[in-house]
Amino acid sequence: MLQLRPNCECCDKDLPPESTEARICSFECTFCSDCTVTRLKGLCPNCGGELLVRPRRPAGKLASSPASTERIFKPAGCQAEP
Ligand SMILES: [Zn+2]
Ligand SMILES: [Zn+2]
Repeated sequence: MLQLRPNCECCDKDLPPESTEARICSFECTFCSDCTVTRLKGLCPNCGGELLVRPRRPAGKLASSPASTERIFKPAGCQAEP
């Protein structure tokens, strides 16, 4: 099951389960759409994999399968904006 992490690893922006801005790699490293485009060029800084739109979990399923609340914030791994 996807963890649905609550924030962007680069800028710590909140990314709730219903967000359309969340992007993830195959390891579920999670970023916002802004960082994905401007800083990461579509590739995960941790594993080099593609970052794609995170699917949203239907609201009715979040009660029994809640999103992760563990924030991961690793700005050192993200390239600075040009
Ligand atoms: Zn971000
Ligand atoms: Zn990754």
